[in-house]
Amino acid sequence: MNTMISRLRTAHDLSDAEFRTLLTTDAYDTELREAADAVRIEHYGRDVYLRGLIEFTNYCKNDCLYCGIRRSNREASRYRLTQEDIMECCAEGYVLGYRTFVLQGGEDAYFTDEKICRIVSAIREKYPECAVTLSIGEKPKESYQAYFTAGAARYLLRHETADPQHYAKLHPSELSAENRKRCLYDLKDIGYQVGAGLMIGSPYQTTEHLIADIRFMQDLQPDMIGIGPFLPHKDTPFRDKPAGELKAVLRMLGILRLVFPEVLLPATTALGTMHPQGRELGLQTGANVVMPNLSPVSVRKKYMLYDNKICTGEESAQCKGCLEARIEAAGYHISMQRGDALRVRKQNG
Ligand code: SAH
Repeated sequence: MNTMISRLRTAHDLSDAEFRTLLTTDAYDTELREAADAVRIEHYGRDVYLRGLIEFTNYCKNDCLYCGIRRSNREASRYRLTQEDIMECCAEGYVLGYRTFVLQGGEDAYFTDEKICRIVSAIREKYPECAVTLSIGEKPKESYQAYFTAGAARYLLRHETADPQHYAKLHPSELSAENRKRCLYDLKDIGYQVGAGLMIGSPYQTTEHLIADIRFMQDLQPDMIGIGPFLPHKDTPFRDKPAGELKAVLRMLGILRLVFPEVLLPATTALGTMHPQGRELGLQTGANVVMPNLSPVSVRKKYMLYDNKICTGEESAQCKGCLEARIEAAGYHISMQRGDALRVRKQNG
């Protein structure tokens, strides 16, 4: 095996120059993929964890330049699910075997901390063996603490880019890389299993930014890393920007599996949107999580972060069936366990 890749596999680190080489050279892709798959199998076997994703609001006070549900997009038809709607999604998911529910949404002031806590508690009360993951953006530490106390154990908040100047090109001036990072460290400090992550090929992204992302995550030590391609949305300022490339996403997935052998890595919907076999290729390059949609079909097309998002037309049961077949065909199998990060499983004995 190539010495750089075998060293990455054993030492989980390389110099900046070596990461630069890996990130910019085609020649290592096959070996990187093979090493990432081997390491994933070593730690997690061929299991693929499923998370039921409930997109419960597309109202958002933020104006991220890439995102289809940004507040200035007047074309977006806005919706919110009620607590009853959300409980119904969970009930449907539970019957299908889901043991993790991910509540994701825009930053919607309607959902006060009190409402979020009420929803989290209700889910945990009804399904005590299930994990609740939140993905509702930047909040004060007290709010994160309140959700945690209510029973949320995991939080997804992609850092988007570790480089402050790059961050400023993707976001309005009221948002900063500094606050984003503060949130992530607060979440860690409280005791959440934390998911960071980024879009590959976001406008103005350079190889140096990707290296900075790796370095930032080495410091943060997230339990989950969500990566997928940037895909343009027609009603955003980035409508004419090129999408990220499949090969770049796979390369970063492979690298991340080797740098963070125990991390949970989703094969994302965006990856499945950019290529018909995108998620399968992701699973073969170190990814071990898939997050099928449990949102009511009536709202799925409204949670349009980027154009042509897949899986917006089917019932939850169909989604699961389709994914099961895809995962098996790719050489893996679905696990309906909670699928906590190995770090947490070890902690809990
Ligand atoms: N409001 C929540 C959830 C955001 S949506 C939060 O702030 O975390 C989840 C992720 O979708 C974002 O973190 C972003 O990385 C991704 N996303 C948004 N727009 C996208 C686009 N145009 N292409 C690809 N991914 C996108």
